[in-house]
Amino acid sequence: MAISTETHPQQQKVSTQAAGDKKRWTIDDFDVGKPLGRGKFGHVYIAREKRSNHIVALKVLSKTQLKQSQVEHQLRREVEIQSHLRHPNILRLYGYFYDQNRVYLILEYAAKGELYKDLQRCKYFSERRAATYVSALARALIYCHGKHVIHRDIKPENLLIGARGELKIADFGWSVHTFSRRRTMCGTLDYLPPEMVESKEHDASVDIWSLGILCYEFLYGLPPFEAEEHSDTYRRITQVDLNFPSKPVVSALAKDLISQMLVKDASKRLPLHKLLQHPWIVQNADPSGVYSG
Ligand code: AMP
Repeated sequence: MAISTETHPQQQKVSTQAAGDKKRWTIDDFDVGKPLGRGKFGHVYIAREKRSNHIVALKVLSKTQLKQSQVEHQLRREVEIQSHLRHPNILRLYGYFYDQNRVYLILEYAAKGELYKDLQRCKYFSERRAATYVSALARALIYCHGKHVIHRDIKPENLLIGARGELKIADFGWSVHTFSRRRTMCGTLDYLPPEMVESKEHDASVDIWSLGILCYEFLYGLPPFEAEEHSDTYRRITQVDLNFPSKPVVSALAKDLISQMLVKDASKRLPLHKLLQHPWIVQNADPSGVYSG
């Protein structure tokens, strides 16, 4: 399992200050640049930390909106989780600060932006690209599960791409507690496993299911249980109504892997370390873990 122990000297500076120094971050520590995007609770900007010159993404959240949605408590907990994770395929959270009206999250900058935009552009990915992403995600999830952290919300919208083409899991752990759950409730059920749509107990194997959904979507361009009505998606998930269209053409090995992940009985899903040994991954995934086109 690849756990990065390397820290860029500038990253070290950013994170050291966040972790321990007496001095607290303020907005004056940053030169704030152009907006990178907009989320439910505020904007994300590119920014430069003045002392180190390190480029980061600054997520600016409105306290009023956080309060109105009653997610402040969860925000605190999730910041706590994400700031302790160190893995090349997990977006770093270096620290946070706040003023009277806003909360600021200092995040690793993912230069190539959102994965789902690439997927929309390409419609679907090659087997090489899909397998490289799936194996990178499996390694990141093995790392998380080892720390008793379950993501529960693996989907293209929560994946960003770094400067070298490396995949980064973002929005860590929000699914059950906060924003994404709301999104899930009002939006798509597509990535949830049977035990979660049926509100049963669940464990880390929910992430194996979601990774199976994602693998399917990478290869076919759509999640497997998509339907017009929520109730149909619900039924298709609980019955594991899985079909493989004839177009685009996808190898039998890829379908075999997906079928071993999308298993209703959570205890029978292919464990992630075995996924890494599956012939489709071995034959297709770039060993560097980076898809560079
Ligand atoms: P979010 O509030 O997390 O949904 O972020 C809103 C948008 O900002 C995303 O859809 C991305 O386009 C962009 N964004 C968020 N975080 C980053 C980041 N760390 N690096 C680059 N772009 C980001």
